[in-house]
Amino acid sequence: MTDKRRADAGNVTYLDHAATTPVRPEVLEAMLPFFAQKFGNPSTLYSVGAAAKEAMNAARAQVAALVGARTQEIYFTSGGTESDNWAVKGAACALREKGRHIIASKIEHHAVLETCRCLEKQGFEVTWLDVDGDGLVSPDHVAAAIRDDPILITVIHANNEVGVVEPIPEIGRIAAQRGVQLHTDAVQSLGKIPVNVDELGCNLLPISAHKIYGPKGIGALYVRKGTRLNKFMHGGDQENRKRSGTSNVAGIVGLGKAAELARLELDDETKRLTALRDRLIDGISASIPDATLSGPRHNRLPNNVHFCFKGVEGEGIILRLDHAGICAASGSACTSATLEPSHVLLAMGRPHEVAHGSLRLTLGRSNTQADVDKVLEVLPKTIEQLRAISPLYATSDQ
Ligand SMILES: *Cc1c(COP(=O)(O)O)cnc(C)c1O
Repeated sequence: MTDKRRADAGNVTYLDHAATTPVRPEVLEAMLPFFAQKFGNPSTLYSVGAAAKEAMNAARAQVAALVGARTQEIYFTSGGTESDNWAVKGAACALREKGRHIIASKIEHHAVLETCRCLEKQGFEVTWLDVDGDGLVSPDHVAAAIRDDPILITVIHANNEVGVVEPIPEIGRIAAQRGVQLHTDAVQSLGKIPVNVDELGCNLLPISAHKIYGPKGIGALYVRKGTRLNKFMHGGDQENRKRSGTSNVAGIVGLGKAAELARLELDDETKRLTALRDRLIDGISASIPDATLSGPRHNRLPNNVHFCFKGVEGEGIILRLDHAGICAASGSACTSATLEPSHVLLAMGRPHEVAHGSLRLTLGRSNTQADVDKVLEVLPKTIEQLRAISPLYATSDQ
């Protein structure tokens, strides 16, 4: 991004809330005292430390309330990636005497995907579950994969690229019946649809603050009581001896506040975003030929719009939209630098050339109908211009 002005998000239509979200003013305000004034280490006994400890306990309760957990089941971490790593490696380590078999969907977030691949290199065996054309994992496939005594099932709750919401309650029932621990990454679904650990039937569920208008670098892992999980960070035995490291108090307070606001505003925000999403999907489908919606029409996150456009490159779309003041993504933020087609789209059976022309628009709190209308004005022209200079589109069967 060469144009300095574009760094100022105030002037742009931000449609990449799946990548990150701005810190809400209420969250920032709650955090500020914990940098300099209430700076105490919560593990200490004097009052400056006790104030920090108290704030942390309150935040733990706020996070627990968002996912329907007990306070003691919430462990603070440095974010979604750490929580995913801890859940998968920690369960594998704790149960390695019992078995070496892990069941994982092919459309996990990279934080789970790469962790599983790392375990494969260490002698664990991973059954990779296929998805259908909409990105859905079949509970029957999960049941069929439980042939021996697997030590973990991991299926993402809502996919970060295409927004499909997986049938986790059904998978959770199967896992519980067969006595297998279930991990489900709810980083994208939190704050957008109801997330309740008992309804989902999961043992482990990661949370990230910066996807719900909290700060970056802080998150949590929900660990159901009785779950077999080794420690991940060794040291001073913070977080009930499970996750060492001096607590990021300001971040934790910010996560707590963000979680509380997300819980209180969930119903209204879900309705509002769903209406904007549907307007955007219908508008794109009506105005752009050879555009395919990725993922199901309704069983998707209320803020996710994802299309593949025949004969164009996603990078080209993103750069032109940026010029028009619209921030969007092609694939996921983590992969968009590599130009590799997305593993999610490939798992859904999209051919390479189609997967390359992908665009993800993810709505959030600041977006209004005006933003949707702006996209519907700019995007059809953008795709038309790109196709006019694309040898792929000119030579394809039109
Ligand atoms: C963003 C994201 C993560 C990683 O969370 P960080 O806090 O950025 O490390 C993990 N899983 C999903 C589904 C995500 O969208």
